[in-house]
Amino acid sequence: MINKLATLYSLQLIDDELDVLEELRGDLPLRVNGLNAKIKEIQDKIDEKNNKKSESLEKRKNNDEEIARLKSSLKKFKAQLYKVRNNKEYDALTKEIDHSETEIERLETENMSMELSNEKIKFEIEELTPGVDELNKDLAENEVELKKIIKANEIEEKKLRDKREKIAVEVKKPDYKVYMRIRKALKGKAIVTINRSACSGCHNIVPSQRQIELRQNRRLFTCESCGRILVSAEVAEEATKNLGKS
Ligand SMILES: [Zn+2]
Repeated sequence: MINKLATLYSLQLIDDELDVLEELRGDLPLRVNGLNAKIKEIQDKIDEKNNKKSESLEKRKNNDEEIARLKSSLKKFKAQLYKVRNNKEYDALTKEIDHSETEIERLETENMSMELSNEKIKFEIEELTPGVDELNKDLAENEVELKKIIKANEIEEKKLRDKREKIAVEVKKPDYKVYMRIRKALKGKAIVTINRSACSGCHNIVPSQRQIELRQNRRLFTCESCGRILVSAEVAEEATKNLGKS
């Protein structure tokens, strides 16, 4: 059992070292993520506006073609007016002319209002763009900084991750799950030793009967106050010794 506990504690020791490397990165990863999200949000807005702009340009082009077609038939209708032979033909023609003129006017009005709203969209895009540029600049700076830190510890981190992987497979799945759960909940330390009769995670006194049981290294005990796994000094020593060897 002591080996099992020592292996679990080794995992904690490795994770402690990885946490230190993680801390070196400070809030850079969070900042990079935040900036990426903000940039995406604004860029999505710009894309949407650009789409609207091209859609409206396309529509205006179609309208222009339709206007040209209508104008040309209007010309024909007007020429035909001189050749009508009776009132019925005259009425039919003027009806066509009226219809074409109304349609031309409608399309021209539509185009004008689309042109106006496109001007507005163009202005909105121009207003959004500097913000994205500024954020991109900020992002690039943060990324360079983060990469520098990652690069500086790359070898060290790789070594630790390899070691961690080897140790992790030795830990029983349920124990690993418990370990990870506590680690996540308590941000970091999931396994601690007893220091001067107290849990070194939360500094609450561990009952003396529990301390005796703990020293027997027979099973997993958790601190009644903070929920961390408690191990004896012997286990910690064993784990440190094993890590030194590997
Ligand atoms: Zn505790």
